Amino acid sequence: MIKVGVTAFQGDVEEHIITVERAMDSMGIEGRAIPIREKMVDVDALIIPGGESTTISSLMIKTGIFEEIKKIADDIPIMGTCAGCILLSKEVDYAVKTLELMDMEVERNAFGRQKDSFQCSLDIEGFDKPFPAVFIRAPLIKRVWGNCRVMAKIDNDIVMAKEDNKLALTFHPELTGDLRIHQYFLNML
Ligand code: GLN
Repeated sequence: MIKVGVTAFQGDVEEHIITVERAMDSMGIEGRAIPIREKMVDVDALIIPGGESTTISSLMIKTGIFEEIKKIADDIPIMGTCAGCILLSKEVDYAVKTLELMDMEVERNAFGRQKDSFQCSLDIEGFDKPFPAVFIRAPLIKRVWGNCRVMAKIDNDIVMAKEDNKLALTFHPELTGDLRIHQYFLNML
């Protein structure tokens, strides 16, 4: 029985829970998703959804979940989407305390006003068809180093990266009903 935690301070928590449970179903994995709100619980993998990274970070610190995640980070796969991607990064252009789990530099709200939110067909390394990627006031990954490698780009901008058992996306994979990103993440277990 696999347990996937979804940090549930704000953002599209429910959508991630539904999508990861559907992905488990589709792969014949027995398991469930658990929202993590007040304290850390024992999980096999963790998803940090989008929202406002500053708010999520301060609530994580306040509840002690921030330190708990840092303790278990080497042992379980963690996926951060949008604000979650910001939280995984080692460097950010704006003062937000991050978990510093991936060798990447991130710029918040990097797509500018007229493109605040948009959807595109994204080619992702290892995926045989493009993924419908939804960007909402999205950050960009400006550079990666060390073991962190790029999985998807829009022009020269990095929008998805992987480092060992950590996965970071600047877009929202939980909004279109396409299960492939969550399936890919579950395969990292
Ligand atoms: N703009 C948000 C931030 O900087 C991220 C947006 C999102 O998660 N959809 O934290």
